[in-house]
Amino acid sequence: MQLMLPDFRVLQRDFLLEISRAMTAQLDLGEVLRLVLNASIVMLAGKVGIVALRDANGLYRVRATMGVDSERITQLNRLLDELVTTEDGLDPDFLNAQLSQMAVTLDKRLRQSLFLPLVIAGEAVGLLIVFRAYWVEATDNDLQILQSFADQAAIAVHNAQLYARIDYERKRLAAILEYSADGVMILDADLRILGFNRALERMSGWTSHDAVGRDLDEVITWKRLEKGDLRKALQDGWPFRMPPDAPVETLYVEGDMVRRDGLTLSVGITYAPLLTVDGNLANIIANVRDITNFRQAQEMQNVFISTISHELKTPVALIKGYAGTLRREDAAWDPEVIKDSLAVIEDEADRLTELIENLLAASKLKAERMRLDLSDVRLDQMAAQVVERFQTQTRTHQFVLSFPPDFPVIQGDEFRLRQVLDNLVNNAIKYSPNGGIIEIGGGVDDETVTIFVRDQGVGIPEREQERIFERFYRVDDTLSRRTKGTGLGLYLAKTIIEAHGGRIRVKSKPGQGSTFYFTLPQC
Ligand code: ADP
Repeated sequence: MQLMLPDFRVLQRDFLLEISRAMTAQLDLGEVLRLVLNASIVMLAGKVGIVALRDANGLYRVRATMGVDSERITQLNRLLDELVTTEDGLDPDFLNAQLSQMAVTLDKRLRQSLFLPLVIAGEAVGLLIVFRAYWVEATDNDLQILQSFADQAAIAVHNAQLYARIDYERKRLAAILEYSADGVMILDADLRILGFNRALERMSGWTSHDAVGRDLDEVITWKRLEKGDLRKALQDGWPFRMPPDAPVETLYVEGDMVRRDGLTLSVGITYAPLLTVDGNLANIIANVRDITNFRQAQEMQNVFISTISHELKTPVALIKGYAGTLRREDAAWDPEVIKDSLAVIEDEADRLTELIENLLAASKLKAERMRLDLSDVRLDQMAAQVVERFQTQTRTHQFVLSFPPDFPVIQGDEFRLRQVLDNLVNNAIKYSPNGGIIEIGGGVDDETVTIFVRDQGVGIPEREQERIFERFYRVDDTLSRRTKGTGLGLYLAKTIIEAHGGRIRVKSKPGQGSTFYFTLPQC
């Protein structure tokens, strides 16, 4: 016995070494648990061994066995199920009773069971059980041996859990990056591309396969760089060292990127540095956003502001000019001149009012849904009044009204609907510079009325017919450029009609005039 002891210790050490090697070699958890079992059985002169681990629901489940028929595993699991029914963890007496039953289930010759819980950070995650074919009092030494293997098994389980969590996080992150609507790129500290997601493939025309491994400058090339410069920022010391808990300082770069097919795309790229624990740059995550729409909206806004200031200035200049002339005391104006001048002042003041009205309405529309002030509206009479007013403003256009008799009275917001008709008739005049007939008419259906305004003007190309109803949108042709306008009239008209539960659309062919229709519910 005295002589046996060193051998025994050597054997135990060899087993422990083998197990820790297996763990560092990242063998599969089942494999490591089987090694632990084998070592425990040999060291304790056991016959059969089981490792059970708790699953996500806290139930013990057989994970590794030695000397157990696979058909027995279901029965073992059923006995293990009952273990958790005891309060305060595992009640040793109950456990012993269960183990005896297990022993009977497994092999009638089994006489003794030795077990230890597998514990990680104070929490039981499993059980290591060894059955012997004979019964001797378990010594401290037995339990110590078992403990050393149970510790190894617990570490292996812990590693496996950590690995599974990291693996899950890694896959989750990869999926987020891959399916992000923004382009995402991962770079190393030398600006070599390590990752390239689908959205970026679409934006840049590069496949991930071709882009990964290349230098950033080979893939992201600029026609025009407007803001920021990554290379320069890196030379200047970006990312600047900060206290460890300070938020990372990102870098924004914006410009026109040249795609692989040669087309350009306006993008904004935010570079976020990932630092190592000692503060060195490890990776850069680049988030690439297509800002074409944003740019277009900005462009439209700029054009709008310059048109609007021009539009406001012209009538003011005219009013001021005429008023100044009339006021001159050295001139005796004849009544005809005075009358004409006052008429111009009045017209221009009307134009200003209309413009301001449209502007106000459009800016209010952005902030809130349009509220309607409903009353009885006679659209045929309203059309006649609008025509009467516009007739004085043009000599080259002829107005025709075609409403059936007894045109129904509808419920609507009179002021707003007049704005719609005004805008449509005004456009009909503006966009038929050679004059012609402008017809305004109506039709009646079971549940709706339809009003149309038809001109013989320049017409609208098919591809523009949807867009002209957008805010600030104007067809980019020579006539529109020469004609005053803000691109608000049709946007307003559409909003007003839709607020009434109706629809507005246009039928037109370039060179053959346009007809705008709007439909309103009868009541
Ligand atoms: P604006 O006339 O102030 O530019 P609108 O919103 O009223 O703004 O119209 C948008 C665009 O639709 C106009 O710039 C013009 O190009 C086109 N358009 C509108 N009405 C007509 C029409 N009757 N005939 C031809 N083009 C039209």
